[in-house]
Amino acid sequence: MKKKKQGKLFFSLAALTALPIIVLGMVLVVVGIESVSDGMKMEIQESLSGTARETVALYALAYSDDIRMEGDHFYMGETEMTGEYTLADQIKINTGADITIFWNDTRVITTIKDEEGKRAVGTTLDNKDIVENVLRGRECYNTSVPVLDKTYYGYYVPLYSGDTVCGMVFAGKANESVEESARTITTKIILVFVLALLIVLGIASVYARSIVVALNKIRSYIGSLAENDYNDAKMPQSILKRNDEIGEMGRYATEVGRKVNDLIANDGLTKLYNRRAGRAALRDQMEKVDAHQSDHVTVALGDIDFFKQINDSYGHDCGDMVLVKISEIFRDKLEKKGFPIRWGGEEFLLVINGEMEKALEILDEIRKELSQTPFTYEEEEEFFVTLTFGVAQYKQRTTLDELVKQADDLLYEGKAQGRDCVVSADNYLNH
Ligand code: GH3
Ligand code: MG
Ligand code: MG
Repeated sequence: MKKKKQGKLFFSLAALTALPIIVLGMVLVVVGIESVSDGMKMEIQESLSGTARETVALYALAYSDDIRMEGDHFYMGETEMTGEYTLADQIKINTGADITIFWNDTRVITTIKDEEGKRAVGTTLDNKDIVENVLRGRECYNTSVPVLDKTYYGYYVPLYSGDTVCGMVFAGKANESVEESARTITTKIILVFVLALLIVLGIASVYARSIVVALNKIRSYIGSLAENDYNDAKMPQSILKRNDEIGEMGRYATEVGRKVNDLIANDGLTKLYNRRAGRAALRDQMEKVDAHQSDHVTVALGDIDFFKQINDSYGHDCGDMVLVKISEIFRDKLEKKGFPIRWGGEEFLLVINGEMEKALEILDEIRKELSQTPFTYEEEEEFFVTLTFGVAQYKQRTTLDELVKQADDLLYEGKAQGRDCVVSADNYLNH
């Protein structure tokens, strides 16, 4: 099975996690920018109205509220105000707002200058609504007042000479400077959003990857089972230890793998290796000898003597019981020294890690123990079972089938010579 790269699941999971947050984030950014700009407009109106009113008070305090026009000359009390911009300029420095004082609708004092630095005095406010309202004693706010070549947020308050309105005081901020600060704030909000978005995407991708990586481990385990790689299929501990659905899936998959492996590798009755799995295990041993990882391997083909008689005398179930019991003796005697295989019916191939001498010793021990073990079945009389073994040691360049054939030929000899014996090319061991 080919290993896929980043699969669809990763992107679906990452999108599933990140999308709602992205949408929510975008809504928040739009709402945030909207309310910031609303807030700014409110704040500008308030600060401009404060500045305009304070300007009126400051001029009255610094000069006089006796305001009049004599010919072309503008007076506050005794002071000729034409060209007198000090106070207005100071207010602009302190508040950041442009100041204009109108005689009726004409600018007589202003901080607003054109590109060459010439003040906009002598010009009129060409917005009739504002002029009318303010000269009637009402304050006025407008978000796009054109003065010279710019547009302003402007707040107008009436200017009184005694009890009569004689003009207006304007406090304003150029739209472009307000927009500039709105842009700065908006940029900051967007930057924070993008940063948060990157963090969310990072977390979503780490989360998605961790799930996909875990699922891939289970997939590769099941993939190995599908390719009959039962021995190499290993479920990582990291999956088995999880206490979520993925951990459960991993544990079930392992259980299925173990059961399938048992089913295909072991004989159902004796639980020994069946011939197929046994051949593979023997081949491994032979390869180890070839690679000098192990010194010798010897095989013994064992066949129960007169087994047919046992079946005939006590029944097939009793025969089965004998097969199971004999298998236990094999397992017991070969522990850490080799392994038994149920080769067929009442034939067993014992694989022994070691040379002939050691194998003969073990086999004769098995033969003796078996011949001294009484069997009983369902209260019938006691009976004894014997085995005959043909033994051959593996030599390099011998095939597995040749090796088993050598053992089989010797087994045949043993049968011919009276059974209950262990026969090798050079030895004949019996009671
Ligand atoms: P020998 O000493 O020459 O080996 O004689 P034998 O009777 O053991 O040999 P034979 O080949 O004539 O009989 C083997 C018998 O083993 C025949 C078969 O029914 C029986 N057998 C094979 N597999 C099983 C099994 O799984 N269970 C039982 N109960 N009997 C089995
Ligand atoms: Mg037989
Ligand atoms: Mg037999």
